[in-house]
Amino acid sequence: MTAKTLAIGNYNDTDAAALEHDLNAQRVSNLDEALALDDAAREAVTAIAYMGHAAFGGDAMDAFPNLCLIANFGVGYDAIDVDAASARDIALTNTPDVLNDDVADLAVAMLLMQGRRMRQGDELVRSGRWADGESFPLNRKMSGAKVGILGLGRIGHDIASRLAAFKMDLHYWSRSEKDTPGWTYHGDPMDLARAVDVLVIALVGGPETENMVNAAMLDALGKDGVVINISRGTTVDEGALLDALEAGRIAGAGLDVFVGEPKVDPRFYKLDQVVLQPHQGSGTVATRAAMGQLQRDNVAAFHDGKPLLTRVN
Ligand code: NAP
Repeated sequence: MTAKTLAIGNYNDTDAAALEHDLNAQRVSNLDEALALDDAAREAVTAIAYMGHAAFGGDAMDAFPNLCLIANFGVGYDAIDVDAASARDIALTNTPDVLNDDVADLAVAMLLMQGRRMRQGDELVRSGRWADGESFPLNRKMSGAKVGILGLGRIGHDIASRLAAFKMDLHYWSRSEKDTPGWTYHGDPMDLARAVDVLVIALVGGPETENMVNAAMLDALGKDGVVINISRGTTVDEGALLDALEAGRIAGAGLDVFVGEPKVDPRFYKLDQVVLQPHQGSGTVATRAAMGQLQRDNVAAFHDGKPLLTRVN
């Protein structure tokens, strides 16, 4: 039987089994393999469960003439051309909220790890240099730091809530002021950068936010400033960030996302003051399971003619 649901991506064994068992899905590893299916197989597809960061544009959608749903694995859907989907009456769903805690945890961990230089501390112990008498330099106090959240959405809000418990002074920018427990709103991102020591980026990715953190904003953050990015590599002008780090025009960075990942600009490797993570914000067993379940629930709702749970467009 030709499958109505096509699952694209490298799913783990549990999700792969559930896609096949619950949705009778056909599975392929990537979009190129999906596009290489024969005409009959592509015409049968009404729903795609998508996992991946490869661009999924209008031309690829046209290869599936009966496609009505793309259910994305992940809250960020910048790889998918939403306008192209809408123009073709293709619904798009994502997996919001279930991953907020994990991504916020990682942002806070990178902030503390960068500020307290834990990577260097670990190295001092493991290398035996500490045992040999070398002392660890004093580093910056994190409680009381002024932190600015760029993009106070679901994840940004959860990061701010956690940092409040660390007695940090919370500031934020969003397109509109939010109802918060007294966090300071800035109507201009540059004003936010000028006001804080640490800038945490929690924006959506995509063309609207590309290079929003640029050289001028890094200069506004200043030489004691730290950038934490859990959003998408594209939200930061990476060349400008590297220039600022190398020249000491900002103090450091904690990055979970990169332009062109998983390939990372090797200039980052030489920098002692950065913490680098392999885009693992939502990468816990429990959260990835919840994301897979929400993705499948959206596909099942579509096939059952029920309202989609987390529709984007
Ligand atoms: P969200 O609730 O939609 O929040 C997104 C934020 O981006 C909001 O503050 C929103 O501003 C801002 N924004 C949206 N469109 C914008 C535009 N055109 N110009 C400027 N700002 C804009 O999303 P979320 O659930 O918090 O997720 C945020 C992002 O985190 C995702 O899109 C994804 O890229 C990233 N993420 C990363 C990981 C990881 O593993 N590192 C995991 C999950 C998600 P307003 O407040 O004004 O609406």
